[in-house]
Amino acid sequence: MKSYWHAFWALLFPRTCLSCQEALAEGEYLICTTCHYELPRTKSCLTGHSTIEEKFAGKIRITTAHAYLKFQKGGKVQHLLHQLKYNNQPEVGEWLGRLFGLEIKTAGLAADLLLSVPLHESRLRQRGYNQSDCIAKGISEVTGIPWQDTVLKKVTPTTSQTNKTRIERFQNVENVFEVLNKSAIEGQRIALIDDVVTTGSTLEACAQVILENGCQELHIWTLASAT
Ligand SMILES: [Zn+2]
Repeated sequence: MKSYWHAFWALLFPRTCLSCQEALAEGEYLICTTCHYELPRTKSCLTGHSTIEEKFAGKIRITTAHAYLKFQKGGKVQHLLHQLKYNNQPEVGEWLGRLFGLEIKTAGLAADLLLSVPLHESRLRQRGYNQSDCIAKGISEVTGIPWQDTVLKKVTPTTSQTNKTRIERFQNVENVFEVLNKSAIEGQRIALIDDVVTTGSTLEACAQVILENGCQELHIWTLASAT
């Protein structure tokens, strides 16, 4: 009886793939098997060849920097991130976080604490959740590395980083992050989590305050990379 209603319900309200919009088959979750298979993974953690390390080289002292997926305009990753950020689908972030976490675990990368790049409270209210928290939650579930959202705070809202020069981009995010709980960071191996890295200025500013508060190691793990 239960499966009859399930089938009936699915007929009325078919679930569709969040990436290609095709109907999902039974047992498929959020995206179809084809899209899952075709996700453009960088395999950066596994090969050790980081695609984003050079964005931070010579600017901040980091131990590793990895992006799980390649972001391309109009591509699958952009569709998924759009669902996560603008279509009230936090479970997309958690699910992708779990996939990323599996790769982190397989690669044997270690950290004591995951911290996600915070949103300003005005944006948080608007969206209802921080997409980077969702990703961190997923990574935490698989790797067992604890996650906290009360250590960092974004104290100033920022404008878009697009169409700004490198200097302007850095000035735009300078002093916008604050550490609320220094003891959570001191002497710890911290992994900073974000959804997508483009120029790296926001992550750089956030990483700066973590380093200033005496962490032992800093890792930058982002779900996607725009280059
Ligand atoms: Zn699909």
